[in-house]
Amino acid sequence: MNRAMQIQLKLEKTKREALPASLIAVTKYSPVEEVVFAYHAGQLDFGENRVQDLKEKAMYFQSENLNHVRWHFIGHLQTNKVRDVLKIPHLWAIHSIDSLRLVEELMRRSGDVASSPCRLFLQVNTSKEDEKGGFSSLEELSNAIQMIQDCSDKGKYVVFGLMTMATIRTNDLCGEAHRCFAELKTIRDQLNSLYNLDLKLSMGMSQDYLIAKEYDADFVRIGSQIFNSQV
Ligand SMILES: *Cc1c(COP(=O)(O)O)cnc(C)c1O
Repeated sequence: MNRAMQIQLKLEKTKREALPASLIAVTKYSPVEEVVFAYHAGQLDFGENRVQDLKEKAMYFQSENLNHVRWHFIGHLQTNKVRDVLKIPHLWAIHSIDSLRLVEELMRRSGDVASSPCRLFLQVNTSKEDEKGGFSSLEELSNAIQMIQDCSDKGKYVVFGLMTMATIRTNDLCGEAHRCFAELKTIRDQLNSLYNLDLKLSMGMSQDYLIAKEYDADFVRIGSQIFNSQV
């Protein structure tokens, strides 16, 4: 079977299994040709976790007039890369807003937003693992939401949802995934009622997206299941 067809079949299967959540195909392991195969198979939402890789892929898509693409930035964003990411053509959302400092920088750089609105997901550190970024209290999250809503440059940003990753270093991946996703949903429900919002949930990767669905994930971010030919 050729590679394009292999990707198409895996995409179709994954998309069906993810429903009713929307599938973001994570292309961080994949050369741009494979992303193009997926696009032609009907996948429009793609996630990347490094600014430089996203920039290169987005530029290629633009040069080929593949303009229905929606790019999702899902990796840790350094404040000195904010301008670069905001200028990416067809950037749809940033899932990894993990500190007030980053929110401040985004607000300062609102003039660089190329595709408005830029949808922001606040990352929550539900696993409490040190190397993972993210907000860890309702108070911090509230501050971030207010800061974004108070942005004087109206229409550039929307507070769109919350994102998390489940615990990796554990003997109980499954139990931890349940705990982390349940926690994100609880926090989301609290923020929605406090601020009268309709925040979406971005959670679930190849190994735990079926669990994420049980807690009403709106977006699952899946890479290896689709693009790794070994899986
Ligand atoms: C890599 C990555 C994914 C996808 O992980 P897979 O296990 O390959 O499905 C999802 N979210 C984030 C933030 C990632 O970095």
